[in-house]
Amino acid sequence: MPQNQRAVLELLYQVSREFATALDLKVVLTRVLFSAIKNVGGERGSVVVMDDHGRAVDSAFVYGNQVRESATMQLKDTVDRGLAGWVVRSRKGALVPDTSLDSRWLRREDDHVDRSGAKSAICVPLMAREKLVGVLTLVHPIPKAYNSEHLELMQAIADQAGIAVLNARLFSESQRQARVMTALAEGAARINSFVRIDDLFENILLQTKQALQVDVTVLALVDGSDLVFRATSSNASSLIGKRVKLREGIAGMVVRQERGIIIPSKTSDTQPLLAEVEKIPGIRVGAFACAPIHVQGKVIGVLEAINPVNRIFDPDALLVLTGLGALAGTTIQNAQLFESLDMARKRYRDLFEDSIDPIVITDLQGHIIEVNKQAAVLSAHAAISLREFNIEQVHDLNFERTGRHFEDISDFALTYESTLYDSHGGTHPVEVYVRKVIFDNAESIQWILRDITERKELDSLREDLAAMIYHDLRSPLANILSSVEMLDDIFPAEQRELVGPIVQIAHHSINRIQRLVSSLLDLNRLEQNHPVGDRISVEVATLVSDSLEAIKPSVEGREQTISINLSSGLPSVSVDEDMIRRVLINLLENAAKYTPVGGSIEVGAEVSGEFLRFYVQDNGLGIPDVDRERVFDKFTRLKNKTGASGLGVGLAFCKLAVQGHGGKIWVEPAPQRGSKFVFTLPVPNEK
Ligand code: ADP
Repeated sequence: MPQNQRAVLELLYQVSREFATALDLKVVLTRVLFSAIKNVGGERGSVVVMDDHGRAVDSAFVYGNQVRESATMQLKDTVDRGLAGWVVRSRKGALVPDTSLDSRWLRREDDHVDRSGAKSAICVPLMAREKLVGVLTLVHPIPKAYNSEHLELMQAIADQAGIAVLNARLFSESQRQARVMTALAEGAARINSFVRIDDLFENILLQTKQALQVDVTVLALVDGSDLVFRATSSNASSLIGKRVKLREGIAGMVVRQERGIIIPSKTSDTQPLLAEVEKIPGIRVGAFACAPIHVQGKVIGVLEAINPVNRIFDPDALLVLTGLGALAGTTIQNAQLFESLDMARKRYRDLFEDSIDPIVITDLQGHIIEVNKQAAVLSAHAAISLREFNIEQVHDLNFERTGRHFEDISDFALTYESTLYDSHGGTHPVEVYVRKVIFDNAESIQWILRDITERKELDSLREDLAAMIYHDLRSPLANILSSVEMLDDIFPAEQRELVGPIVQIAHHSINRIQRLVSSLLDLNRLEQNHPVGDRISVEVATLVSDSLEAIKPSVEGREQTISINLSSGLPSVSVDEDMIRRVLINLLENAAKYTPVGGSIEVGAEVSGEFLRFYVQDNGLGIPDVDRERVFDKFTRLKNKTGASGLGVGLAFCKLAVQGHGGKIWVEPAPQRGSKFVFTLPVPNEK
């Protein structure tokens, strides 16, 4: 083997070993350059590394025995247009004996013939696994310094370098990805540990600043058709709360397109885009990156990074920013939820404290956890000592409603009247509203103990008053009635025909007033659970005919027809005669009142099992299904066009009177139209 060839082989072996031992891309590149200059000769050299898409991603530049800082962006120009560009496109080495005579040589300002004169150059592709991974260029200050042998040697070195450069590039890419992953993982860990929204914002900005190595970070959230600035790492606090329209500006564009953007530097093209960012007080924008903040596929805001410390953004800056945006989204949403929950809790607290009703919160066993001011006031216990009690010690529990172990208490309030005991041995009537609530994150029971002392006092006053009035009205009414009855006898026979009808009307009206007064009095008594008075045995037929007699004038006046339908052999009933007669009269009066002129009414009675069943049926207005229960409540009057007057107490009286006799009363639709009121009375035991 010739001496020369052997030397070359040794050289290559050495070179390949040297290259292969390094993984750091910068180290590999400088080694390649030094080794090329040393073995091929030359004044300076450069190497540009390219990714799989042919983009310049890194570079190194050596002058003599010094490594110079190089900007990959500048070299990109060379790779696109200059000698290196030609090599990239043709994938072949190029020998340029005289740079001043070769058009491929891209002359820069400082490289003019007059200044530094003609040079010679060699440029070869760096290939690995049949892919171009870069270009290597050497420059000699003297023209024709290189010949084809130099080119061959250079190509041989480049062949060794290719794979080493590729490995180092892949390594640095994986390193970068690892860095991104670490930045995101660290961001996630830190960001997730904040729940207060302002702390969270501050932390997101700090993480972003550190991960991207920028001067300023800004966070803005979408609010309707605006973006609102919520936080910034700069000291421009005047920015906070400012709004920009989503349809304008660069941040709005990021929201609309749901995609991040990087503006590497301010040029005449990007100037208008950056104008918006420049509005941030005290900031002159060099480079700008903006990524959306995502939650479940929805953009809720943007994260902005301004002015990288190194002047330019790393290639993966957008990736990191987008990752941080995605991380921030979920946490911001959580913090917002937490904040609204916190506010709701505070609102409940305020309502609780300020409520004019005493409120007590207990656990599910009834141990008092919390009381409001009013509970302490009414019970005359200090709040702190109430917390030692069980709810049972504060008021009379109604286990029938709550269940022995409070199992019947649910989310819906149940109510009962009860008595609250105070620390002085006093009692207070209360209306209790009790339901389950979540209190301080735990299932609890809320007891509202409304003080109804005043209402009770008023009720009894009203009842006393009513009882007094009804009672005191009865005897004068009875006197008037007997006086009117006497009139009949006083007048001589020839005048009776004239006076008779007038006396009749007076008689009838007084009877009505008397019935009304008696019914009101009974209603009052029955409501207070007084038993029905003395009962006597009465024939059904007598009851019915007496009642019909009483309503005859109204029915005749309205030209209504009445039919009677009594089964034969009806037993007599044992009742407070006056009371049950008034029940029948009430039903008949209603039938007449709520049935048009000329209508028909039917009254009947029959035996049904152990009960006697009475009914009064009409073909009038009828009663809607929804109101069938309600009409028996006190003071309930349905809206209808009859204009009939009344108090709404008649049916309430009927109900209590019938129930007082052990029967039931209800209303059903009449077969054709109208209503059928039915009531039952127990048949007395025949023994
Ligand atoms: P009122 O003094 O209003 O008649 P009631 O307690 O006797 O009071 O009746 C309550 C309401 O029930 C009445 O206002 C009326 O709307 C309705 N009602 C009672 N009886 C009848 C009926 N036979 N037909 C239709 N509606 C009736």
